[in-house]
Amino acid sequence: MKHYTLKLSSALFLSTLFAAGAAQAADYPDHAINMVVPFSAGGPTDNVARSLAEAMRPTLGQTVVVENKGGAGGTIGTSQVARAKPDGYNILLMHIGFSTAPSLYKNPGYDPKTSFEPIGLVVDVPMTIIARADFPANNIKELVEYLKANKDKVSLANAGIGAASHLCGTMFTQAIGVDLLTIPYKGTAPAMNDLLGKQVDILCDQTTNTTQQIKAGSVKAYAVTSKQRVPTLPDLPTMQESGFKDFEVGIWHGMWAPAGTPKPVMDKLVASLQAGLAAPDFQKRMADLGATVLTDEANPAALAKKVDQQVPQWAELFKKAGVAAQ
Ligand code: ASP
Repeated sequence: MKHYTLKLSSALFLSTLFAAGAAQAADYPDHAINMVVPFSAGGPTDNVARSLAEAMRPTLGQTVVVENKGGAGGTIGTSQVARAKPDGYNILLMHIGFSTAPSLYKNPGYDPKTSFEPIGLVVDVPMTIIARADFPANNIKELVEYLKANKDKVSLANAGIGAASHLCGTMFTQAIGVDLLTIPYKGTAPAMNDLLGKQVDILCDQTTNTTQQIKAGSVKAYAVTSKQRVPTLPDLPTMQESGFKDFEVGIWHGMWAPAGTPKPVMDKLVASLQAGLAAPDFQKRMADLGATVLTDEANPAALAKKVDQQVPQWAELFKKAGVAAQ
């Protein structure tokens, strides 16, 4: 009898819990959603995030508020979302660094496979190698020569170990065999400010932050890291055209929710991401900034696959290059 009562009450408990979960999912979202960007406001990832937040609003019927939480190459903000309540009100917009940081930090604060539910891929963004407007080198050949001859005098800005700017800067300096003094920021928005203010010399940053500055001539641009030239910056040669064989890197961005976010909530997030990417305003804004919208991969399976491929791939590359985790 006792056994029976126990069974009945746990069944009741479970069904009440299930009903509460279903009701929550049906009402979801009933207030604003917090989207963490693990870099500074006004930077390349923030530019994508704010346009996307706007584009997702009609489907969600709620505002998506962007929270900038920069530091440690994006790992501080990323791990904040890993620990957040998995209720659909906490999401993350991060990029390739999601899969490089686990090889660069002994403890990045999250596990790329188990800490999150993938929502989908978002955009792919090329990087550009740029310098302050009065930097002596006028093309990539001169840049390489100058860096080799003056390596102790040149500073390279980045957004910390694990950031895209760190990845690109490392690939570039390793390719030419020079070690530069690096200055880490919480994002490339403040790095760009210092480049414009001529406090730092060079930076490798995403076109979502550099396009306008390059077009305005407020920085010197040397090359783009995509395989093909970027239509919005047609005069800028690719790294491969510039003699850097195999130098190609695209900064893919993805969206995640903490592990344990209920499936019906995830379904709504996936649907609103897909609708957001399809919005003409979002598409135009991304095209103007040189980014490719990853419409066909805006789903959990494609992002899970990307992470599964990239984590071991970067681990292997860093190992070969002798880049150790800190
Ligand atoms: N994407 C970063 C930002 O938004 C910078 C980086 O990854 O290099 O500032």
